[in-house]
Amino acid sequence: MTTCCICGKKEHESDDIFIAGEKGCICAPCAQGAFIKAKRAEMGFHAHHTDPEEYEEQLIDSNDFKPHKLKRFLDQYVIGQERAKRALCVAIYNHYKRLEAETNTREEEQHHLSSDQEHDDVEIEKSNIILIGPTGVGKTMLVKIIARIIGVPLCIGDATSLTQAGYVGQDTEELLSKLLQIAGYNLESAQRGIIYIDEIDKIARKGENVSITRDVSGEGVQQALLKIIEGTQVSVAPEGGRKHADQKLITMDTRNILFICGGSFEGIKSIIRRRLEVKPMGFKVQDASKAIEESELILHTTPSDLKRFGIIPELIGRLPVIVPLDDLTPNMIRKILTEPKNSLLKQYKKLFGLEGIELSFTEDAIEYITKKAMELALGARSLRSILEKILLDAMFDLPSQEDIKTL
Ligand code: ADP
Repeated sequence: MTTCCICGKKEHESDDIFIAGEKGCICAPCAQGAFIKAKRAEMGFHAHHTDPEEYEEQLIDSNDFKPHKLKRFLDQYVIGQERAKRALCVAIYNHYKRLEAETNTREEEQHHLSSDQEHDDVEIEKSNIILIGPTGVGKTMLVKIIARIIGVPLCIGDATSLTQAGYVGQDTEELLSKLLQIAGYNLESAQRGIIYIDEIDKIARKGENVSITRDVSGEGVQQALLKIIEGTQVSVAPEGGRKHADQKLITMDTRNILFICGGSFEGIKSIIRRRLEVKPMGFKVQDASKAIEESELILHTTPSDLKRFGIIPELIGRLPVIVPLDDLTPNMIRKILTEPKNSLLKQYKKLFGLEGIELSFTEDAIEYITKKAMELALGARSLRSILEKILLDAMFDLPSQEDIKTL
């Protein structure tokens, strides 16, 4: 008799699927519960740290990626960036709906169940994403959290380290083998994963007057990237690194891999402003761009601006979801310091707490840190080093001063 070793349910009395292992069985609901618990533990939540209601709120079970639910989850970690969060949630939801539809169609075809011929002939194309925003405003963070919630492997690469095939450096194909490695060599899982390519703006085509004899960092790399983004079969070296003649290769299908590119696109605002100032017929319109605030300009990014920036049209065509991110304001930095679940101030409080010291920050201190971060203009990236610097002496001295209990 088959019995779930977690809840004791008997297979013949239940409609659930039972999964058998060498030493016992588990029913599908218990397996799902275990999966969610493991995922939460990986993310640093532990059941005893959160009350059940909060647990319910945070929990997005593995098949429910509705935009509202995804966003509520992102909100717990990422401050501001409302528009970007909404756009990303929709894009991710559609991407996985598309995958689901494709799986269903395949199954129907296998069982010759296809009923709606007209519908079945429509293939939904993949919508890869391009994130535009300065450094340290949460681009990588958003992608990381999304990959974690929906439980797909994520590979993060940097466009500046990529080269055209054949040159010294990292081939674009190595991104695929890295993804495969991250997916634990589960090919099916890797083929539904996410590849995030940072600093995509740094491989923009150089101006015509710049002489490039060996284009290792511009258009050639864009062409190489285009090849894998377009959706194709690529043979990759499973162990990473370069391909050798005598190496066994694995064929990866990139059709369903979601590509997200990010970059600061410095200078794009002036391209947008110029476009807005000039009417199609060539007349200068002074007020059109003036009416738009400097910080809002980025919201008006179009594919033609990206082209003018130096991204090749074919690649732009494959990155149809353009998501601009906002610059961080002092108020956002202050919130980043204090509000998210794992905010830096909370982390340092915990660190000092381990030493038996209660650490607190005055309003003035928070103001000072915010001001310093704004001066450094690295978004929220500089916050940790600012705090490290401020707290260094205390972290050096306090462990030897057992009488001190507050800071
Ligand atoms: P980007 O990829 O845009 O350069 P990151 O996502 O790497 O920036 O951000 C660096 C760090 O700054 C993050 O790990 C996070 O701690 C913090 N951070 C940046 N933006 C935000 C935000 N909007 N909300 C919360 N934390 C943020």
